[in-house]
Amino acid sequence: MIEAVGVHKSFGGLTVLDDVSLTVPESTVTCVIGPSGSGKSTLLRCVNRLERIDAGRIVVDGELVGYEWRGDRLYERPRRAVARQRTRTGMVFQNFRLFPHMTVLGNVTEAPRALLGLRRAAAEERARDLLARVGLAGKETSRPHQLSGGEQQRAAIARALAMEPRAMLFDEPTSALDPELTREVLTVIRELADGGMTMIVVTHEMRFARDIADQVVFMDNGRVVETGPPEEVLDAPRHDRTARFLAQN
Ligand code: ADP
Ligand code: MG
Repeated sequence: MIEAVGVHKSFGGLTVLDDVSLTVPESTVTCVIGPSGSGKSTLLRCVNRLERIDAGRIVVDGELVGYEWRGDRLYERPRRAVARQRTRTGMVFQNFRLFPHMTVLGNVTEAPRALLGLRRAAAEERARDLLARVGLAGKETSRPHQLSGGEQQRAAIARALAMEPRAMLFDEPTSALDPELTREVLTVIRELADGGMTMIVVTHEMRFARDIADQVVFMDNGRVVETGPPEEVLDAPRHDRTARFLAQN
């Protein structure tokens, strides 16, 4: 469903992704772990095309992200096509990023109405279903500031799901939450996984990663150091760097 091959990305002179490759099969969960600054967020942002890559390729659901072949030449996709591609991956951020001036229902219906052309009634019906699924039935008319952090994050998940993405990208979805609220958000993510959603989850929650991941990717300094099933990467890492990171986390 998601494939990155030889991805390079730098900001100015700083190399942030250095030959990163990753394969995420459909209906599997990949957890990405690694120290701060290792390039985890940048990788997700490249998959979602919030950043463009300098070399390599990323394919989502069979389509090259950001580019297309015409004959034997590679062209950048037009902006509208990129916007459409972006809707295939739902992104959830550490700090929720709900629209503060809109109700919860408004947050979840905005993109389907604006980008998919859904009528208000249809968008609201979909939103109510999703909000019920993430445990937010009854919060439709609340504004983000009236919700707990965990509720805000679950609203952000519902908002991403409303676009019916082929895959979900979570960037440290519980880092801003205390343990109680973390649990309710992780439960929602686990239910999505159980339902067959393809996802990449950047997380510091090692127990959660062990529990949910089909594969764990350890990144350090812009590189993928090792990849494998959780019982290998987390319990019997092959690389010293991974072992040292795990000892500290
Ligand atoms: P992680 O999510 O693993 O903490 P990031 O992907 O956020 O790492 O960042 C990796 C490196 O890229 C860091 O050194 C960070 O400062 C740098 N970086 C990220 N985004 C930008 C940007 N827009 N401009 C310049 N440097 C950036
Ligand atoms: Mg990050």
